[in-house]
Amino acid sequence: MNCKVCKFGGTSMADGNIIQRAAEIINADESRRYVVVSAPGKRFSDDVKITDLLYACSDALEASDQEKFKKIFSKIRTRFLNIEKELGKDIGMADGLNEVEQEMLAGAGRDYCASRGEYFAAKIMAALLEIPFVDATEFIHFKEEGALDEVTFSLGKEVLSQYSRAVIPGFYGLGVDGKVKTFSRGGGDISGSIVARCVMASLYENWTDVSGFYACDPRIVNSPKWISELSYQELRELSYMGANVLHSESIFPVRSAGIPIRIGNTFRPDDAGTYIVKTFKRKVNEAVVTGIAGKKGFTAITLEKSLMNGEVGFVEKVLDIIGKRGISFEHLPSGIDTMSLVIDGAYLKDGVLEEILKELKETLQPDRLYTHENMALVATVGHGMAKNVGTSARLFKALSEAGINVNMIDQGSSEMNIIVGVENDDCADCIRAIYNEFFS
Ligand code: ASP
Repeated sequence: MNCKVCKFGGTSMADGNIIQRAAEIINADESRRYVVVSAPGKRFSDDVKITDLLYACSDALEASDQEKFKKIFSKIRTRFLNIEKELGKDIGMADGLNEVEQEMLAGAGRDYCASRGEYFAAKIMAALLEIPFVDATEFIHFKEEGALDEVTFSLGKEVLSQYSRAVIPGFYGLGVDGKVKTFSRGGGDISGSIVARCVMASLYENWTDVSGFYACDPRIVNSPKWISELSYQELRELSYMGANVLHSESIFPVRSAGIPIRIGNTFRPDDAGTYIVKTFKRKVNEAVVTGIAGKKGFTAITLEKSLMNGEVGFVEKVLDIIGKRGISFEHLPSGIDTMSLVIDGAYLKDGVLEEILKELKETLQPDRLYTHENMALVATVGHGMAKNVGTSARLFKALSEAGINVNMIDQGSSEMNIIVGVENDDCADCIRAIYNEFFS
């Protein structure tokens, strides 16, 4: 029998009615055997996600503000008790919530707090489907520095093979200290991918509130083209650059096993969705560009120095200066005597940028050193770009006609993406101009 792993995101777990719909989707196909869930998300636009409330609980505890903690925890309690009521099932929520509250008060830690949304969501789904709950800590293990421990896949295979069906909470696993450890935000997608790889699923279905990927953000272009199929690499490029449908790291567990991912819409389950696959055969000229995505808030630090190309170890010293501060860079466009480091501006706050500039000046003695802040990166992605002559000419002509100034250009060597740096304020116009050129 085929074996599918389904992951339901926060909006698909938001209240009792929606959870019921998710359960119907699962029950409609008996090959949907392993289910991974997120914590209840927003029910309406001003609502607060359970995970955000849990982080707020942890903040209150860190500030020793018990009163605030109690207030926030009572909102969490009400939400889960309501879900239990809506589903008309006795899931033992009240006792479970009391236990977790005590653990939090006893200092269980920030990741433990954040993880309890998924924990309860999985308990609820397991009770509703009447299948076992398997805790993620039983097999998703992290290494010392926080990366996923490869042992996860063999352990997961062993643990999950004992169950023909199971519900597993997303977003967390076990750290080396024996405590709960979470992935980065949105990491339930990674958990789903891990489970799919452990059981060698035929398909990893990721159920959310949109019917898949669009060629660009629908808030920027009205009804953009829907994408029926993406490669793992295109997905990675687009989701990393801000296409928020799936966590950008969620392809890694399934990629080596070639397990396809399907994005489905819980609210329109019959929509075709987007398939993310290893390879596909697109015809030349069929689609030059697959999608466009952008992200704001980058800073470019540029160094100019005559004969930089002959100075052995120059780049290594530059990278060491940012690396030892735990900062990674996004792009490294360079010329013979210039190089720029494009860094997420979030790393450079509170005087860090100034410190880095000082050290770069002292260590490398550049002729010029300058920064460009508030830069947005816009990625135009598609395997078709490598095959079609004149793609970049079309792209830059469209930007010049739209009056958009390009501050930086970077083209990946795989020729499947062109990234341009523009002012933050030009980000949406830039995406619109590229979209109109290739899709209208
Ligand atoms: N609940 C977590 C978050 O809000 C993880 C997830 O939903 O995937 O980030």
